[in-house]
Amino acid sequence: MKGMSLVDALGRPLQSLRISLTDRCNLRCQYCMPEEEYTWLPRKSFLNFDEIEILARIFASRGVNKIRLTGGEPLLRPDISRLITRLRAIPGIVDLALTTNGVLLAEQANDLAKAGLLRLTVSLDTLKPERFFQLTRRDRHADLLRGIETAESASFS
Ligand code: SF4
Repeated sequence: MKGMSLVDALGRPLQSLRISLTDRCNLRCQYCMPEEEYTWLPRKSFLNFDEIEILARIFASRGVNKIRLTGGEPLLRPDISRLITRLRAIPGIVDLALTTNGVLLAEQANDLAKAGLLRLTVSLDTLKPERFFQLTRRDRHADLLRGIETAESASFS
């Protein structure tokens, strides 16, 4: 049975759900993680895939139809494609997207697309490798560009 719809303070339906999969990141952008080390959440406190799916199903039964996966850097979460397949199978979910810094995309883009991810948002602050290094303090610009190229040839909608 469909439950009561979620609405905001003005009575508008809440249809989008953002799920953060990790607080970790493989970059250290000056404007986001200015320190080198942080007190990270213990991994055992992360929602596991069963728990994420249960929550997503509850939200979907209340009118949510779009899910976006984020972090930190969500591609650091092992087996993320398995989660994507499970979220795509939820009745009512018509959009499934992921926000990434792109560093691990070259290895993962095809699996993500096959698993049913529909859309990707890749953040690219600069086309200049030295500027990228200044901003993110990691030498991963080439990986990011390779990731975008792979994603372009994968079958995202
Ligand atoms: S890639 Fe995103 S999450 Fe990672 S440090 Fe930069 S802004 Fe923050």
